[in-house]
Amino acid sequence: MSKELVESSMYVASSRKLWLELEARFGESNKPMKYQLQREIGQVTQGNMSITEYNTKLKHLWDELLCLAPTPKCVCAGCTCDVNKALAEMTASNQLIQFLVGLNSVYEQARSQIPLLDPLPSVTKAFSMLIRIEKQMQVSISSMEPTNGAAFQLKAQGYRKKTVMDKRQQVATLETHVSNYTALQIGTKKWLS
Ligand SMILES: [Zn+2]
Repeated sequence: MSKELVESSMYVASSRKLWLELEARFGESNKPMKYQLQREIGQVTQGNMSITEYNTKLKHLWDELLCLAPTPKCVCAGCTCDVNKALAEMTASNQLIQFLVGLNSVYEQARSQIPLLDPLPSVTKAFSMLIRIEKQMQVSISSMEPTNGAAFQLKAQGYRKKTVMDKRQQVATLETHVSNYTALQIGTKKWLS
């Protein structure tokens, strides 16, 4: 804060007024960055990333956005309105939906079932569910390889060559694996329950 700003801030009686003052002074200059960041967040999808990489990327972007645009807070003395709790819940629920929407389609079952859970899990909880499903899927794919036909083995080998195959192909191959393996779906149900 500049000296000039500190001096002028001394005339601002309450912290709420100070907050509004600062918002009015600096809020405008934040706008392009905020817009850029919100746009980026809205476009993030899992793609080639693992569940962990995808989660880390989203968390990083959410943190940045919170720095630029902090969630408003009730600062009334002896506040009993509980709005802070409601706002935190709203942010958590928005982040959960964002996280699920960007997942690859192999996680469709989890994506449609997690929002129905009561209470709604945190992103951290949903992340750990997805990690287990991801591991289960990897185990399923590697255990299928020796017992299936040559064509299927070729597909499985192709899936391992991540760097060579493009994203869409990878997802399509993985989807084939998943649809061929119904036990995996039972596994998914188990993880979600
Ligand atoms: Zn309040």
